[in-house]
Amino acid sequence: MFELFENELNNLKPILDQVTSTSLDFLENIAEKPTYIADQTVIPTRLSNAGIGTAGSLEVFRKHYEKLMVASPGPRYWGFVTGGATPAAVAGDWLTAIYDQNTQGTQGAGDVSAILERDTIRLLCQLLHLPEDFDGGFVTGATMSNFTGLAVARQWGGERSGRDVSREGVSGDLVVMAATPHSSVIKSVGMLGIGSNNVVRIQVLEGREAMDLADFEQKLIKHQHRPIVVNCSAGTVNTVDFDDIKAIVALKQKYPFWLHIDAAFGGFAACLPSQRHLLAGWEQADSITIDCHKWMNVPYDSAVSLVRKEHSRLQVSTFQNSNAPYLGDPSENFSYLNFLPENSRRFRALPAWFSLTAYGRDGFAWIVQNSIDRAQEFGAYIQSSEYFELLAPVLLNVVCFRLKSGCERMAVFLDRLNRRGKVFMTPTLLSGEPAIRAAFVNYRTEKEDILIAIREMEEVMRML
Ligand SMILES: *Cc1c(COP(=O)(O)O)cnc(C)c1O
Repeated sequence: MFELFENELNNLKPILDQVTSTSLDFLENIAEKPTYIADQTVIPTRLSNAGIGTAGSLEVFRKHYEKLMVASPGPRYWGFVTGGATPAAVAGDWLTAIYDQNTQGTQGAGDVSAILERDTIRLLCQLLHLPEDFDGGFVTGATMSNFTGLAVARQWGGERSGRDVSREGVSGDLVVMAATPHSSVIKSVGMLGIGSNNVVRIQVLEGREAMDLADFEQKLIKHQHRPIVVNCSAGTVNTVDFDDIKAIVALKQKYPFWLHIDAAFGGFAACLPSQRHLLAGWEQADSITIDCHKWMNVPYDSAVSLVRKEHSRLQVSTFQNSNAPYLGDPSENFSYLNFLPENSRRFRALPAWFSLTAYGRDGFAWIVQNSIDRAQEFGAYIQSSEYFELLAPVLLNVVCFRLKSGCERMAVFLDRLNRRGKVFMTPTLLSGEPAIRAAFVNYRTEKEDILIAIREMEEVMRML
């Protein structure tokens, strides 16, 4: 063997020990690490002939890059919808690289990864109180999950017009309806060749981001002659608003459409008996998107696509890989190869499996409730503050607010606040108005973190 590799393999233990201590340095001090680093200049690395070995690379990485790692898995990173990584999830993610299984998985053929993946899907459905009516698989994020659900919806729509879209291509008659779709839904519609011009926007209720059902029904009537896909939001990113799923499902009896529910993070409301009503009826969906790297606190690269088992045939027509004869006949055995966009995949279910088995219902109920409590505390501060005001009531885990003193100063305020590196939030537009969002997703966030953020915000305001 080439000496370099031989040397590496002979030193696996010291190498992995160094990786462990690097990891502990980060994780044990994460609350003190900056949430923002303004100066990200690095000297570009040059490719050498000889190579410096893993220990050498770790040294170079630690010198140049480690200091630029922001504490995005820490307690005060409230931008976007950023989850952390629980110890069980990290353990599963490490072992994913170690075992390095290729979860193309025809179930039972070769390795066990596809079987564990299906087991993980069952556990997740149990956690979220979903019936065993769905088949599911792991994809990289909610964007790809939306893409997957909408791809099967497109196949369904084609079939209604007598067309096999996977063979013949799109015909252009499909219409997608949504009130406040996530940007990734529009992106997916574009990638699928449906075209974002074929997204019909449903009006929202006064002061809400949720669908106006009267307008929805009118649009269903207007487009009756076309196959219709409805994208329902179960948790919008700005105000965590939910479309009225139960009412939408009721309309499905009258006007046939494909119901896709984007419950990327809002789906975890099902962990709490007090919030489960928000998702009432979602078990009737045709496809559902769930992110694991948000409220489930699994490291990035993890989401689930659920599609009703009765649509398996459509799903296999959408993603069939049978044009590669060496991979076998898709109708014989369940195989992720024919169910999801990707072929070769990492053992992506493992971090989620570790999390679900390690923490159970109580652990996830605690995470969700903890985020809601923090959002309430932060929302109460905003409401009573002389500087800020809420832009929407605090639902679940996101606080959407603005400066009382005007929008012009908001960008300066947010920039200064973020640059201090103690707390990180992101700007947004709510009904066209600039706003700031604080999203509580990480299990590490405690009451003390809210107080730290408030102190920071007041100090920035006093100097503004
Ligand atoms: C985050 C999010 C997405 C996109 O998810 P990625 O994991 O970033 O691909 C889609 N929909 C909703 C509602 C989200 O919150």
